Amino acid sequence: MTITFEFLGSGTSTGVPCIACDCAVCTSDDPRNKRLRCAALVKSGATCVLVDTGPDFRQQMLRARPPRLDAVLLTHYHADHVVGIDDLRRFNLLQESAIDLWADAPTLARLRQCFDYIFSDRHRPGLPSVIPHTVGGEAFTIGAVRVTPVALDHQILESQGYIFTAESGGPAIAYCPDVKRVPDASLERLRGVDTLVIDMLREKAHPTHMNLEESLAAVDAIAPRQTFFTHMAHEVDHAAVEAKLPPSIRLAYDGLVLDVG
Ligand SMILES: [Zn+2]
Ligand SMILES: [Zn+2]
Ligand SMILES: [Zn+2]
Repeated sequence: MTITFEFLGSGTSTGVPCIACDCAVCTSDDPRNKRLRCAALVKSGATCVLVDTGPDFRQQMLRARPPRLDAVLLTHYHADHVVGIDDLRRFNLLQESAIDLWADAPTLARLRQCFDYIFSDRHRPGLPSVIPHTVGGEAFTIGAVRVTPVALDHQILESQGYIFTAESGGPAIAYCPDVKRVPDASLERLRGVDTLVIDMLREKAHPTHMNLEESLAAVDAIAPRQTFFTHMAHEVDHAAVEAKLPPSIRLAYDGLVLDVG
């Protein structure tokens, strides 16, 4: 069985276009320069796993139309990755069940603060309903999808990347949208994956995200067969930046679907 990976969003926290910006990328006609906030849909067989519920979650579900969600994985608690979580209630209604939610301990703690009503003991119908699971270092399985977490240094906090393989085996795809530095232990886990999806904010340096130079160095260290850059800001013109890259490294865009395996 293969893994299908869909980019629901490839933009940084502001989204592209940015509010009230007249720059060449924000006003571009190239659909690949329109970026919702980062999220991804991973499918294998009948299993459907969502990564992150950012502010564009509803819009992303209307476009991608997954019939159900078997689980939701969160990378970290930054607003651009979690604030759409309330809209999960639509899937609760459809599936008539709570949805498994996987996140690291700091992310779950922050969600309990910001969305106390979701985690309340006095749960009422119509509210989102999740079953929280804490992501540690161990791999876990959701239906036909095997998930291996990789801890990433996002400077102000740790974020989780995830490596996906079909439960039956085959090539791996790694998703690492918010990272400044890959710790050595995580480099070991990532080395040699078939497909790498990794943070590349822009060419200019940034305190918490990799820029082009840092992302290229990470690709060198990990040595995947192919790479897609994501979490891009409005300084990145799709065609202009992609023209500088070797064929094995491409820029992601919203709606791009990869078949791995
Ligand atoms: Zn982000
Ligand atoms: Zn702009
Ligand atoms: Zn972040």
